[in-house]
Amino acid sequence: MSAYKTKAIVLRTYKLGEADRIIVLASKDNGKIRTVAKGIRKTTSRISGRLEPLSEVSLQLWKGKGDLQTINQVETINSFRCVKTDLERLNTGLAMAEAIDQLLQDENPQEDMYTMFSKALQWLDNKTHDPSLVLAGFYLKLLTLEGTSPTATSCSICNLGYNEVDLTYFDYKKGGTICSGCYEGEPISQNAVTAIRAMLNGGLGKILSISPHPCSREIEHFATISMETHLDRRLKSMRTGKIYLSTTS
Ligand SMILES: [Zn+2]
Repeated sequence: MSAYKTKAIVLRTYKLGEADRIIVLASKDNGKIRTVAKGIRKTTSRISGRLEPLSEVSLQLWKGKGDLQTINQVETINSFRCVKTDLERLNTGLAMAEAIDQLLQDENPQEDMYTMFSKALQWLDNKTHDPSLVLAGFYLKLLTLEGTSPTATSCSICNLGYNEVDLTYFDYKKGGTICSGCYEGEPISQNAVTAIRAMLNGGLGKILSISPHPCSREIEHFATISMETHLDRRLKSMRTGKIYLSTTS
């Protein structure tokens, strides 16, 4: 049994017994961890407001014999107020958390993934950034980290580059963009292909500064389909927003 400190972002929470709550966290030093916050649902609890979904915190944890670690102390690093008070930004953040929840392994450090998530929440907390573009950029970067990012530089079937052919279709399962000659997948605009290519090649900051971006919803659509195909499941948060409602009571 031992105590340790780590930074973490709250992925989701649910009730346990009369007064406690299970807090599932993406931690910087120990991957995904399941913890229990004792007494957090009592009106006298001083820490309940610090452990909302998407809050970034500094924790002291106690690791005993069971699966659940106990939270001893918690300090807020960033509560991302702008994200929490805007429904679209909140749902976007929860969609990010859902992907992290699927990809981050239990008690296995993946500091790159943690840092990327923390950075993406900071982008989302900036009101000048379009939430659709932030989500798309985050998914594309996460897929790159997984080694499964889609291509936007050539045709996934005939391999001809974007300087040689028009990339007018997209199919993540085939590898990404597809040319008009090979004619497979879903139609995609040239603006969206150019933006996705820039996002995958270090130009995310520049794309985020274009606000409003003429095809942000289209870019979000293709990035989300790519992530859902990679995860082999639909991401619920963007469609319903119910996850947050079920965790705040
Ligand atoms: Zn082709």
